[in-house]
Amino acid sequence: MDWTNDINRWEVTKDDERPARLDGTCFYCAVPIGGRHKPDCVIPKKWVKVAVTIEIEMAYPIFQEKDSIEFHLNESSWCASNIMGYIEAVEQNGCLCGYASFKVLHIEEPDGQAQSSATN
Ligand SMILES: [Zn+2]
Repeated sequence: MDWTNDINRWEVTKDDERPARLDGTCFYCAVPIGGRHKPDCVIPKKWVKVAVTIEIEMAYPIFQEKDSIEFHLNESSWCASNIMGYIEAVEQNGCLCGYASFKVLHIEEPDGQAQSSATN
């Protein structure tokens, strides 16, 4: 599903009905088609920037230390997309739960005002 169509989309449309209740209203906030979703409805979306940390194990030559490994991963010609193979290997154990954590970096408020979560 492409959630980008729901960024700041407040008008209730036919797409907001669900098969469980085809009564001409938003399934979540019950506002009729053509109306405006309630502020606590799940349909109108906003952009949120999230940092993802995934713990994986990688094999490196014995002589390499932390700085050179981080240089290799962050600043060398190594393509960061190569990490996808490592992530898929972890996922083969079931899922990424237990290996991944998420932190909200920035929230773009619907009215255009930004709210950062710079508090640590
Ligand atoms: Zn709604």
